[in-house]
Amino acid sequence: MKPLFFNIREECGIFGVFGHPEASNLTYLGLYALQHRGQEGAGICSFDGEQLYLEKSMGLVADIFSEKRLKRLPGTIAIGHNRYSTAGGSSLKNVQPLIANYAHGPIAVAHNGNLINADLIKKRLEAEGAIFQSTADSEVILHLIARSKREKRINRIIEALQEVSGAYSLLFVANNELIAARDPFGVRPLSLGMVDNAYVVASETSAFDLIGAEYIRDIQPGEIISISKNGIESIQFLKSHKKSFCIFEFIYFSRPDSYIFEHVCVNTIRNELGRQLARESHIDADIVIPVPDSGVPAAIGYSAQSGIKFDFGLIRNHYVGRTFIEPKQSIRHFGVKIKLNPVRDLLKDKSVIVVDDSIVRGTTSKKIVKMIREVGGAKEVHMRICSPPTIGPCFYGIDTPTRQELIASSHIIEEIKKYITADSLSYLSLEGLKSLVPEPQNYCTACFDNKYPIEFPDDKSIQLELSFW
Ligand code: AMP
Repeated sequence: MKPLFFNIREECGIFGVFGHPEASNLTYLGLYALQHRGQEGAGICSFDGEQLYLEKSMGLVADIFSEKRLKRLPGTIAIGHNRYSTAGGSSLKNVQPLIANYAHGPIAVAHNGNLINADLIKKRLEAEGAIFQSTADSEVILHLIARSKREKRINRIIEALQEVSGAYSLLFVANNELIAARDPFGVRPLSLGMVDNAYVVASETSAFDLIGAEYIRDIQPGEIISISKNGIESIQFLKSHKKSFCIFEFIYFSRPDSYIFEHVCVNTIRNELGRQLARESHIDADIVIPVPDSGVPAAIGYSAQSGIKFDFGLIRNHYVGRTFIEPKQSIRHFGVKIKLNPVRDLLKDKSVIVVDDSIVRGTTSKKIVKMIREVGGAKEVHMRICSPPTIGPCFYGIDTPTRQELIASSHIIEEIKKYITADSLSYLSLEGLKSLVPEPQNYCTACFDNKYPIEFPDDKSIQLELSFW
């Protein structure tokens, strides 16, 4: 079953600059550092004191932005966006930033997250005559801004955001102003930094490191900031009753060298996930290997805690891109093989602990176990997953399939172990996971416990998804 509403599969990275002569170049570098958050397409919109300029394409940041193209993005303000590759609905018109021209001039938006009531608002606006250019939920925000009767731009944006519901970390650029906002739950990260007296805003701090920017603080849940020549104006536009930081950012999505959610180091948490997993599900074995890259910090932690030696038993080809063409239907089963290959010398006749971040459908783990056994020659393969079983789809911007496709939503661990043909399988416990993050009550763990923190609208497609449990 495919959900009816658009954009459930939206993961993204955003970056913005205010007050720098090389705004678009810095944005290019910022997006480059955030490439892991989205590989389907990217765009940059700049403002030169008079007008907005937009360059966007499908593909990777480094392929899209040539020097020539960056020169077509003049000005001292810029915002950029990386969009995640999705199975359906991928087209240039959905690549952000999105621009709209309304009564008060042009405005551009870049959005990370997913709105859960966008379909309902869209239907209402369409019934009133609105014409939508894309299928991106973010366009709803632009329509609401255009319709607002408030005078000041920031108040129009606030009014629009008070109507939408879900996860959003947002950047806007309009006439000499950069605006950043975060939903009251703070689901996706968003940080403020500074370089050469210019302000920068990014999904993750690893983007600051590349351009030599200094981290200042996070944009707070429910906070909107306007950056202009007068400095920063901050408004708490919605009360943050319940912070719900996405715990999956720590498990898989963010880069290990980033500091997110009140400046917590992702690598440190991942290492701790591995240590906790070793404490919870120790097994005697000869070697601990990660599924690269996502399992590396946790496998190092697992090894350190268990005292079992660590090594890279699987080698990843880093150059496998979306352009890879599988020659024929008959040899389409390259799957994991094209990306990973075992090191026989390390694995032959060994009892191997394999550490990965998560199991979604189970297909990757199944192929990896088979490969380690058949090609690597391992005697035993013990799968260790440094997150709890993924039982619920994400409505807030992580690319998870529907509930039906999540193997752990309908199978017990013993059945999953059999399916992936491992000698043993253990997941990290939810309590164990929560014990590792500061103030665990501030996290969304819906994909592991079906407790969705944001109230759902009366949307049939969402109700259908939720009714599986
Ligand atoms: P699956 O084969 O469906 O079980 O996928 C599991 C693999 O997908 C794991 O190796 C994870 O590292 C990776 N993974 C987990 N969540 C995501 C996600 N949201 N987007 C892309 N890959 C993911």
